[in-house]
Amino acid sequence: MPAGPVRHLLVLGGTTEGRALAAALDGRPSLRVTSSLAGRVAQPRLPVGEVRIGGFGGADGLADWLRAERVDAVVDATHPFAAGISHNAALAAASTGVPLLVLRRPGFTPVEGDRWLPVPSLAAAAELLPLRGERVFLTTGRQSVAAFAHVVGAHFIARSVDPPEPPLPPSFEVLLDRGPFTIAGEEELLRRLAVDVLVTKDSGGAATAPKLTAARGLGLPVIIVERPPVPEGVPVVPDVEGAVRWLEQRG
Ligand code: NAP
Repeated sequence: MPAGPVRHLLVLGGTTEGRALAAALDGRPSLRVTSSLAGRVAQPRLPVGEVRIGGFGGADGLADWLRAERVDAVVDATHPFAAGISHNAALAAASTGVPLLVLRRPGFTPVEGDRWLPVPSLAAAAELLPLRGERVFLTTGRQSVAAFAHVVGAHFIARSVDPPEPPLPPSFEVLLDRGPFTIAGEEELLRRLAVDVLVTKDSGGAATAPKLTAARGLGLPVIIVERPPVPEGVPVVPDVEGAVRWLEQRG
C-alpha cells in the first residue's frame, strides 16, 4: 500500500461536493488534485484545478490510471446514485492498494407533514404510477426517464439539465433547468404545472431539497427512490471537512 504524504489525489466528482473539495484543496503546496467527470452533461460546472473528462474503462481501466498517474489517494465524491463508478473505485482501490474515501452527503430526512412513499428502485417507482391518473413531476435525472417509458395514464413533466433521450413515456414534456432551486420557486412551479405527485431520488443536499419542502406545503405525495448502498468496507464521510481531515491524517 502506498504510504507517506498524498502528492496526487484523484477526486471522482460531478457533484457540488466534488467541486467544493477541489476548491478547498486548491493551492496546497506539493499536492496535485485531479478532478474526474464522467462527461454526461454538455456544459458541466467545472471544478478549479486539473480536470479530466470521460470514463476510465471499468475498474481495470481506473486501476491502470491510478498506477500510471501515481495516484496516492482517491476520494469518491460522486453522486449517491452513481453506483457504477463507486463500485469500480472500490475494486480499483482494492487491486492497487490506493486508499479510498467516499464523500457522501447525508440523505433527505422526512419531517412531519411529508407524504413520502419510499421505493427501492426506479422500476418500483414506475410500478406505483399512475397513483390516481395524474400529472407527475419527475426529477430523477435525464438517464432515468426511460424507466417510466412504459407508463400510460399519467402525464410526465421531467426536469433535467440536458434533454432526456428516448424511450420516453407516451405523455411527456421536459423542463430544462438546473439547481439550486428555492422553496418559493418550487411551490410556484408545482402549482403552475398542476403537479399531483413528485418522483425523486434520495439524493440529499441543499440544492434540490426545496422541492420536498414545497411538496409538503402543498400536501403532495412524493415517491422517493432510496439510495444504493456504499461499497462495503470503504470509509465514508458526510462532508468536505471530513474529507480534508482524512487527507491530512495521511500526512
Ligand atoms: P455511474 O452509472 O455510476 O457510472 C457509469 C460509468 O460512467 C462509470 O462506469 C464510468 O465509466 C463513468 N463515470 C461515472 N462517473 C465518473 C467520473 N466522475 N469520472 C469518470 N468516469 C465516470 O454514473 P452515473 O450515475 O451515470 O453518473 C455519472 C456522473 O454524473 C457521476 O460522476 C456523478 O457524480 C454525476 N451525477 C450523477 C447523478 C445521478 O443521479 N446518477 C446526478 C448528478 C450527478 P468507466 O467504467 O468507463 O470508467
